[in-house]
Amino acid sequence: MIPVTKPYLPDKIRYLKYITEIFEREWLTNNGPLVQQFELKLKDHLKFENLLFVGNGTIALQLAIKALGLKGEIITTPFSYVATTSSIVWEGCQPVFADIDRKTLNIDPDKIEAVVTTKTSAILATHCFGNACDIQRISEIAEKYNLKVIYDAAHCFGTLYDGKSIFEYGDISTCSLHATKLIHSVEGGLVCSKDKDVFERIWYMRNFGHDGPEEFNGLGINGKNSEFHAAMGLCVLEDFNLIKEKRLNQSRYYDYLLENLPLERPHIQTKCDYNYAYYPILLSNEEKCLKVKGALEMENIFPRRYFYPALNKLDYLNSEENPVSDDCSSRILCLPLYHKLAEFEQEKISNIIAGEL
Ligand SMILES: *Cc1c(COP(=O)(O)O)cnc(C)c1O
Repeated sequence: MIPVTKPYLPDKIRYLKYITEIFEREWLTNNGPLVQQFELKLKDHLKFENLLFVGNGTIALQLAIKALGLKGEIITTPFSYVATTSSIVWEGCQPVFADIDRKTLNIDPDKIEAVVTTKTSAILATHCFGNACDIQRISEIAEKYNLKVIYDAAHCFGTLYDGKSIFEYGDISTCSLHATKLIHSVEGGLVCSKDKDVFERIWYMRNFGHDGPEEFNGLGINGKNSEFHAAMGLCVLEDFNLIKEKRLNQSRYYDYLLENLPLERPHIQTKCDYNYAYYPILLSNEEKCLKVKGALEMENIFPRRYFYPALNKLDYLNSEENPVSDDCSSRILCLPLYHKLAEFEQEKISNIIAGEL
């Protein structure tokens, strides 16, 4: 079976060494030494100081919305994983969708301005598949209308923008370290903010608002992560170069194998140094997409329709059509891409696709 992705598993001996240490220390969670060590390694790796390791990428988004005190409407992308929208709703705000750019699959700045109202408090945009949004235009719009910006950078571990970690942009950027993501800690997430005050607020919020055992500094929640998760994160992060290089080579090999087929690929934003986290292809229409998917499934190969349905179709929302997003989501497939995927498997996948087009 070839799934769309498989988690990266590091050397077991190395992982068990950390686990043995945990058993000896008997310190399992609550900002333990491995969580602290993982955060230090991340800061060093990303060359960025203000980041916090949290329970998952969804609580990271919720903390971000809460920390900025957002109310009313949040303009967001219809083309993302459900957590981007559900976090907005969960935090009592209203998602308002702005359609995406057909080339990059990211929120279209031209569509953002059209839906700004007096109730708009922020823009929550996803750097889809690890490809940067039009950060410059978004920050110009945010400044003009006095809006906060949160980037859901769940797919972006290792992505650079203008030579810096993409997590530096926006008022807050969040990342997911879920098992299916490029770098993972089984479950996990990051909240990043250059703003010292915002960062400090989230530092308290992550741990129930605790300021020592008997004092509290504001409202908080359990956003912490554990020593066991940090141990996995440390092991996987150590192999980052290996993981990224493999993805780069696999992506280039797909590019080569699929070169002459009638497919579209997202355009990488200028200034974006891409992390090759996913390999999406756009077929000419939904019928072709389903035909290719069916043919692959017959051979036990399981691409995924990321992201289908588009989020404006969620049944707990009353949203308008977003024609570009609806169209792209109806004919997109993410091809299998993971560390152990072999060249002969990529060849098989590409041959099956070619046979259907
Ligand atoms: C994975 C993902 C999330 C959620 O992250 P979890 O760590 O699974 O909670 C949020 N947004 C996007 C775009 C994602 O792909």
